[in-house]
Amino acid sequence: MTDTSEERVRDAGFDDLLDALAEGDGYYLACANGHGSLPPRRVCPECGSTDLDEEPLPETGEVATYTQVHVPAPSFADDAPYVTAVVDFGPVRLTGQVLADYEDVEIGTEVAPTVGETETNGERLVRFELR
Ligand SMILES: [Zn+2]
Repeated sequence: MTDTSEERVRDAGFDDLLDALAEGDGYYLACANGHGSLPPRRVCPECGSTDLDEEPLPETGEVATYTQVHVPAPSFADDAPYVTAVVDFGPVRLTGQVLADYEDVEIGTEVAPTVGETETNGERLVRFELR
């Protein structure tokens, strides 16, 4: 049995966000014009500003789109079927796996972000819990 976690290349900005989310301390990046974006961005995708501040992520967001995945990528093989959603937090949107059955998710469903690991290979990912 090999622990590959040491070998994984850390995606600096995004892993920092996952660490923060795991502690219930999520954040996003905001420029002076109020545009939101997510790490590891260093430039505002809307206006090109490089003056980005970390702002606390709202505790909950609303499901904007969702879909059930039956035939996942190999790295998610043991997790299927599962629901993924794009969740609207106001200034930013996060994509992740929803910890709920497809039938229980709707556009506008309120969810809170958390961090989990895939069943398949223990890779960390954003997850959403129903509120
Ligand atoms: Zn901007």
